[in-house]
Formats: sequence, C-alpha cells, structure tokens
Amino acid sequence: MLNIKDLSVAFSSKSDFDLKRANLLFRILSNPVINKVGATLTQKALDYKLPIEPLILSTIYQQFVGGTSPEKCIKSINELSKYNIETVLDYSVEAKKTNEGFDQTVQEISSLIDFSKDHPGLTFTVVKMTGIASFELLEKISSNVSLSSEEQKEWDKSVQRLDTLCNKALENKLKFFIDAEESWIQVAIDQQAKEMMKKYNKEKANVFTTFQMYRNDRIDYLKNCILDAQENNYYFGVKLVRGAYLEQENERAKELCYPSPMNTSKQNTDKCYDQAVEICLQSLKQVSFCLASHNEESTLKLVNYMKKHDLKTNHPHISFAQLYGMSDHISYNLAKSDYTTLKYIPYGPVNDVIPYLMRRAEENVSMTGQMSRELQYLQDELLRRKTNRT
Ligand SMILES: Cc1cc2nc3c(=O)[nH]c(=O)nc-3n(C[C@H](O)[C@H](O)[C@H](O)COP(=O)(O)OP(=O)(O)OC[C@H]3O[C@@H](n4cnc5c(N)ncnc54)[C@H](O)[C@@H]3O)c2cc1C
Repeated sequence: MLNIKDLSVAFSSKSDFDLKRANLLFRILSNPVINKVGATLTQKALDYKLPIEPLILSTIYQQFVGGTSPEKCIKSINELSKYNIETVLDYSVEAKKTNEGFDQTVQEISSLIDFSKDHPGLTFTVVKMTGIASFELLEKISSNVSLSSEEQKEWDKSVQRLDTLCNKALENKLKFFIDAEESWIQVAIDQQAKEMMKKYNKEKANVFTTFQMYRNDRIDYLKNCILDAQENNYYFGVKLVRGAYLEQENERAKELCYPSPMNTSKQNTDKCYDQAVEICLQSLKQVSFCLASHNEESTLKLVNYMKKHDLKTNHPHISFAQLYGMSDHISYNLAKSDYTTLKYIPYGPVNDVIPYLMRRAEENVSMTGQMSRELQYLQDELLRRKTNRT
C-alpha cells in the first residue's frame, strides 16, 4: 500500500549527516537574500579561479548533482538502483553559443549513451535543444522569420545533431527526452520533437517531447499532437511538467507588450496539468507519458486513477520523475510500490553546472512552497530518528 509520506522509506538511503547537510542547504536556498548574494559570490569566486571547488563539491553537489562526469555519478546511480529508481543523467550545461560548443555537447551526450548502455539503471538520455542549436536560430524559426542560406545550413546541422543523438540512443535501447524551454523558441523545438517521434516512435514511444502546462495553449496542442500520432501511426511520448521559466515568460511578455502565454494563476496551471494527464490516460494505447513533478496531489491523482482502472503499477506507458535531491518522499515511496520512477541527475564540471544550479535556485526561491515542504520533511525525519533513539 503506497504511503507517499512514509519518511522512513523516503530517507532510508540517507545518514543523519546527509539529512543535516540537506537541512542546512534548503534553509539557505529558501532565503532569497542569502541565495542571491551566495549565487553572485560563487560565480565571482569561480571567475577569479578562487579555490572553492572542493567546497561546492562537498555541499551543493552532494545534494543536487551526481558528479562532474558520468563515471563520478556511479555511486548515486547504484544507490538509486538499489531502491528501484532509474536514473536520467542530465548533462547540465546551459545554452552553448558556438558550433564547436554544440558539437562538444553532442560528443558528451554520445559518450553518455555509450556509458549508459552498460548500466541497467539508466534507461533515458536527455537533451536541451539550446545545447545543440543556436538560441537565435531557434527563435527565428519559432517566429517564422526566413533564414539566410548560411543560417539554413547551420540549422540543418543542428537538426542532424538531434537526429544523430536520437538514433544512437535508440540503437543502444535507450529512450530520449527532449526538454522544453522558453516559449519564444519552443515552436522550433516542438517541430523537431515531432519529426523525431515520427521517425523513431513507429513501434513504441522512444522519443519523448516535453509539455509545459503553465502555458495556456498546451491542452489544445496536446490534443492535436495525439491526433497527429493516431493519424500517422506513430507513438506519442511526452514528459508533462508545469514549466520552469514563469518569471522570464511574464517579464518578456510585459516588456514586449504581448499577452503572456502563461496561465493566470497556479490553480489554472494545476488544472491544465491534471487535464493533460487525463488526456494522455484516455489515449494510453498511443501515448506514453512521464509525470515529471514534485507535486504530491498530481502524483496521487495519477496513482489513484491507475488503481481505479486496474492499471499495473509498472505500466509500460506511465512513469514518474523527480529531480535529484528533491522530493525523495515521492520517488522512494513510488519506487517501493513498483511504480516506474526516474530521477534526473544533473552532472558536469563545476564551472559549467553552476549557472544551471543558479537558475534552479532562483526557481526554487520563487517556489517557496516547495522549499518549505522539503525542509519540513527533513526536519520531521530528523525528529523521528531522534525520538526512535530515545
Ligand atoms: C524530472 C523533471 C524534468 C523537468 N523538465 C523540465 C523541462 O524540460 N522544461 C521545463 O520548463 N521544466 C522542467 N522541469 C521543471 C518543472 O517545469 C517545474 O518547474 C518544477 O517541477 C515545479 O513544478 P511541480 O509540478 O514539481 O510543482 P509545483 O510546486 O506544484 O508547481 C510549481 C510550478 O507551478 C507553476 N506556477 C507557479 N506559480 C504560478 C502562477 N502564478 N501562474 C501560473 N503557473 C504557476 C510554475 O510552473 C511552477 O514551476 C522538470 C521537472 C522535473 C521534476
């Protein structure tokens, strides 16, 4: 029987020291002032090559990052595997700007695929389009601006990069997530995700696109995509998220005077999210989906639906995912009850991963609910252990 709040399961892999360190980190992260000052100082220290890497590796990395390379993530991957949790290694380097940078990302993900095929705990690869294509080009295509012949050539190369990675992942029996990003580049990403699904999802969903349900146009688009998959005989794979760029989206819309593509409230986003899950469930033959969320209600709604409709906990078309270091109570309890559960583990060199972590930290501060929930669970578990000992 699943009890998502069973903290003894949630933190079974953590020592008291791990919990205390996490407690301290979440306290720091939930303070907007310390968070902002800390982020700026860290970046400056790294820019000036001050020797703070060991400090970062023993604190932030221990909680939120697997390591500086896939090999360094082995301990975390094995630990999660022990608890029936699959790992998605995420090369967490923010947007590249040059062709060399894009090729380097392809190289890195390609080696990651080689590494993953030997580890049963690794079933997915993930890519961010801005890691392999220019932001400006993605924006131009998304705004329907015609490309010069030079730009077209560059874009063709980016499409080729994505295809190479999808192809290699599939050859090695790995599935493939394409992350969602800012709405003003998302049209181009959506187009490419659809092309890859048409090509690689003939027999099952191997390539998964991502839908951000904070957008007010996604329900209609989801219905259209599923219809397209049904009409053209391919499987539709989707990772459902709420969306990570809320503030930038609203700020940009205000600045450039266009209606924000965001839902007007958190409640509306929650409603859209639940609706998207229902739509996927109604077409479960054609659709595979991953509920990528730290939201307990969304998780329990899906669990209850699966129970009510007699769907196996490890139904091959349904999975759940959380980020490493967050919402362990959801991940560990789901996995214990045999629901397919994934953890996104970011990895990469300190200098490259810090900007990603800063974006996450900013996002976390704007999600005060999430931070206080994480803190509360950590403190409850520390108290539970102390009481058990006395
Ligand atoms: C495994 C995994 C993969 C992810 N991949 C991506 C990705 O590819 N692209 C991406 O953008 N994000 C991604 N995310 C992040 C995700 O979009 C959310 O930012 C994060 O998970 C918080 O949402 P939640 O459902 O977990 O929790 P909740 O705490 O229930 O929801 C918080 C979210 O609600 C929305 N929200 C908050 N306030 C408002 C408001 N006033 N109006 C409208 N909406 C509001 C925002 O999206 C906010 O992030 C991923 C998350 C996970 C766990």
